[in-house]
Amino acid sequence: MKWLRGALIVGTFALLYVLENKRPLRRQVESKEIETFRNLAIAATAGIAVNFLEKPVTDQLTKFTKEKRFGLLKLFRLPKGLETAFAVVLLDYTLYLWHVLTHKIPLLWRFHKIHHADLDLTAATAIRFHFGEIAISVIFRAAQILLIGVSPQALQIWQTLLFASIFFHHSNIDLPKDFEEKLQKIIMTPRLHGIHHSAEKSEMDSNWSSGLTAWDYLHGTFRRDVAQDKITIGVKGFIEQKDVTFAKMLLEPFQNYELQINNSSIRNS
Ligand SMILES: [Zn+2]
Repeated sequence: MKWLRGALIVGTFALLYVLENKRPLRRQVESKEIETFRNLAIAATAGIAVNFLEKPVTDQLTKFTKEKRFGLLKLFRLPKGLETAFAVVLLDYTLYLWHVLTHKIPLLWRFHKIHHADLDLTAATAIRFHFGEIAISVIFRAAQILLIGVSPQALQIWQTLLFASIFFHHSNIDLPKDFEEKLQKIIMTPRLHGIHHSAEKSEMDSNWSSGLTAWDYLHGTFRRDVAQDKITIGVKGFIEQKDVTFAKMLLEPFQNYELQINNSSIRNS
C-alpha cells in the first residue's frame, strides 16, 4: 500500500506540474524550474523531520489509541467506516485551528513564514515547510491523535487526502471560473488559497482551510473578493529573489530580531 500512496502523491504532483505549464492562473515571478527546485529542497528538510520526528510519534500514538480505545471517537461504538470519516473531518478542522495559530503566535510564524515566502504559488509550494515547523507541529499532531482518538488507518487516509488537497489548492492552475466556484462551496481551491498567500495581511488572514472550506465559512474567514492579478504572492520584506535563497530560508527563523533592530538603530544614530 505504501508504494501505491507514494505513486498517487508523485502522480498528482506531476499532473499538476504539467497543467500549471498549460493553463497558469498567475504570472510566474521566478523561473518555474528554480522555484520548484528550491521548494523541493526545503521540502526535503521537512521530509527528514517527518520521518525522524513526526512518524515515530504518530505511529506509537495511533497504535495506542487503537489498542486502548483512547480518545473522543472511541467513546462511541461507531461502525469502522463512520469512525474513520469522523476522524478525517475532525483532523481537518483541528488543522484549520493550527494553521491560524501558526500565523498568530510569533514563534510559530517565524517558521510558517518560510512556507509563505515563496514568490510564486505552485503545487511545489504545498510541501515547502521549514523543518522547524514540522518539529514543533509534532506536539500538536500528538494532541490531535490523542484527543480525537485517531486510529492508524484514519491517519493514513487523512494524510493521503491532505497531500492531494494541498497540492491542488497551492497549484497555479486556471480552472474554469464557474467550475471552481462550485468547488469552493466544498473544498479549498487555487484562487481561494491564492488570497491566503497574499503579502497583504488583511488578505492573508483568510481561507485557512486545508481541506473542507466549511471551517472558513464557520469562522467567517472565507474570502473570494480579490482578483488573482491584484495579489502579490509572498511575505513583506521577502519580495526579491535574493531574499528567498535556500540558505536564507533555512536560517531565517533563527534570526535574532532584537539584535537586528538594535544594530539598525545604532547605525541610524
Ligand atoms: Zn498560512
